Amino acid sequence: CGIVGYIGQKNTQEVLIEGLKKLEYRGYDSAGIAVFTDQGLQIAKAKGRIANLESKLEETPLVGSAGIGHTRWATHGKPSDANSHPHTDNSHKFSVVHNGIVENYLELKDELIAEGHHFVSETDTEVISHLIAREYQGDIVKAVQKAISQMRGAFALGVLTEYEPNKLVAVRQASPLIIGIGEGENFIGSDIPAILQYTRNVYILNDGEMAVLTKDSVELMTIEGNFISREMIHVDWDA
Ligand code: GLU
Repeated sequence: CGIVGYIGQKNTQEVLIEGLKKLEYRGYDSAGIAVFTDQGLQIAKAKGRIANLESKLEETPLVGSAGIGHTRWATHGKPSDANSHPHTDNSHKFSVVHNGIVENYLELKDELIAEGHHFVSETDTEVISHLIAREYQGDIVKAVQKAISQMRGAFALGVLTEYEPNKLVAVRQASPLIIGIGEGENFIGSDIPAILQYTRNVYILNDGEMAVLTKDSVELMTIEGNFISREMIHVDWDA
């Protein structure tokens, strides 16, 4: 339902929570974030209001320089802590937030279970993190491309892997996603208000496009891997 992502030197947890609050108006049943910390990729999520997630984070703040966040509107699997995003794989090295629906997720899930993957949620989204983990051979962009080539449906994705902590990967396929450009920091959002308090310079992704963000750069390409250039839009309205 709502996606926000950040890579840079600010307090990542705070940027993600503030962004999710700006997306609250879209409605949701649970919320969560994943952050690269000194202990690796850590996830906090909670059913219900963002305040529930915030009280979990008060006990154990997630400190790091990149992260992804999500507010969920359940389509596959009831609203629960386990079904909330971000989702991960059995190695806990990959983390995914997803808006939309993976139509062939049951087929993919059966295939992955037969290969020894264990699932902890009822969502279509968890299949994506396992697929990316299966396809990973040292390059997260290629792994994401291989994974989405097997998926049918609508998806906007934010993806992180502990193997490449300086990268945030974003995908748009029939579900909106924008990239926010900062100085020494960059953002993703399912909607402009999610990032508007931090930057007014954005790229709007089209269907079938993806982006690779570091704190200092943004590369745009098609999901087949052809690089593209896009005019930056300056947003002059207030959320
Ligand atoms: N299909 C996913 C789920 O049910 C994502 C829903 C959404 O867009 O929030 O978890």
